[in-house]
Amino acid sequence: MKIPQEIQSITEKLRNAGFEAYIVGGSVRDFLMKKTPKDWDMTTDAVPEEIQKIFPHSFYNNNFGTVTVINEETAEESLKTVEITTYRTETEYTDRRHPDKVKFTPSLSEDLKRRDFTINAMALREKDEKQEVVDLFNGKDDLDKKIIRAAGNPDERFSEDALRMLRAIRFAVQLDFKIEEATFGSIKKNASLIENISKERIRDEFQKMILSNNPARSIELLQESGILKFVIPELEEGIGMTQNRHHIYTIYEHLIRTLRECPSKKLEVRLAALFHDIAKPQTKAGEGQDSTFYNHDFVGAKVTGKILRRLKFSNKTIENTSLLVKNHMFYYNTGEVSEAGVRRLIKRVGKENLKDLMDLRIADRLGSGTPKAKPYKLRHLEYLIEKVSKDPISPKMLKINGEDIMNLLDIQPGPKVGAILKVLLAEIIEDTDKNDREHLEDRVRELYELSLEDIKKSEKIIEEKKEEEDLKDKNKFWVK
Ligand code: ATP
Ligand code: MG
Repeated sequence: MKIPQEIQSITEKLRNAGFEAYIVGGSVRDFLMKKTPKDWDMTTDAVPEEIQKIFPHSFYNNNFGTVTVINEETAEESLKTVEITTYRTETEYTDRRHPDKVKFTPSLSEDLKRRDFTINAMALREKDEKQEVVDLFNGKDDLDKKIIRAAGNPDERFSEDALRMLRAIRFAVQLDFKIEEATFGSIKKNASLIENISKERIRDEFQKMILSNNPARSIELLQESGILKFVIPELEEGIGMTQNRHHIYTIYEHLIRTLRECPSKKLEVRLAALFHDIAKPQTKAGEGQDSTFYNHDFVGAKVTGKILRRLKFSNKTIENTSLLVKNHMFYYNTGEVSEAGVRRLIKRVGKENLKDLMDLRIADRLGSGTPKAKPYKLRHLEYLIEKVSKDPISPKMLKINGEDIMNLLDIQPGPKVGAILKVLLAEIIEDTDKNDREHLEDRVRELYELSLEDIKKSEKIIEEKKEEEDLKDKNKFWVK
């Protein structure tokens, strides 16, 4: 593999001005693995002011000594900006969170020593057409053997910055590497130090694990290392807890397997796969083959929200994931699900989330040990969804709107108009023939006679009754 021209040119400019210049860190790791790095990080003994003099088209962005050089001409995304960082050492970590200060150093080795893993602690440059790797910790060897190993003494490195323990697991699952024994032993020993780390940093690593090709393995590694109980203790409640005659796996094992089988690459669907039965331990009633888990889906949506809020995920991620968990028990038995039932499902979940909900169900099935991802019943449901998708499911599809109602009754805007629309929609979802202008007008007049409270109540009654119907026996039938 060749070093891109843009990087060569930066190297030469620095060298012509009398400085050293190397590619460093993750980009060397990726380069040696013959993968194009997603960004090219460079390091030099020049200090920021000197770097900026050489590259007028750059900005100095923080007190970590990083200058970002802008390459406008390149079409390659990864080369549009290149970060150049002055060699630095990190001094003490008295709070175990941030290095107390960052100190520049003229020595490349000092810079490499502050880096986390042997495979991330190499520097590379091209000199006289030859590639030269500076590799103080035998990172090349570990790269070939697919090993994550702390650079230096693991206990020291993890107590300086405990996030590195999560990074070890993250790199192991992203690259499909093993964590070296002493390094893993040290993570076990220091697991509780993760409590010193900000939730945002934990979230970023956790998210990368979940989006990797081995998300399930990352949960297993978190558990084995003893970190899981500090980050998502709720998952540990299901360890060793058996279910009922419909399940061969314990709750914890089922969640891991569901995540492993998840066909979607979306964060929300994967998180929902991991958390969909998170409330089973707390809703379990009875023992053995006949135990039940009533409402674990609803409670689970709440628990999921709590976990994701704690980990500072965005509101959108929290909302979408909770919605999937809440609805993961949707009913789809052929012959028993009516078209009205499918319309209600679409209204409850939203058209845009149906594919995700299907993916979650496929994961749930495979994670339970059923051999077939998509049985006839699920395909039939997809057919029904397609079939009813033009039916009125949202207020927009009603043959009457708020304006019409106000004209008809000769009234001003007010809460009754919205409430009436909701009742009409609920009724029409049950029977689409009622989406007829004449019928709707009669119904509007009838409803208007009621008090606002009674109008709202009529909608609620329909909704609640139907929700109950859709979810009847959900504990019994679900996966088969
Ligand atoms: P990615 O592909 O995820 O960006 P990366 O190795 O480039 O992987 P970054 O977080 O971008 O990871 O960090 C760049 C480099 O900085 C790492 O390769 C490592 O050398 C060093 N580094 C980053 N975070 C730490 C840390 N917490 N402790 C020590 N060194 C670190
Ligand atoms: Mg990087």
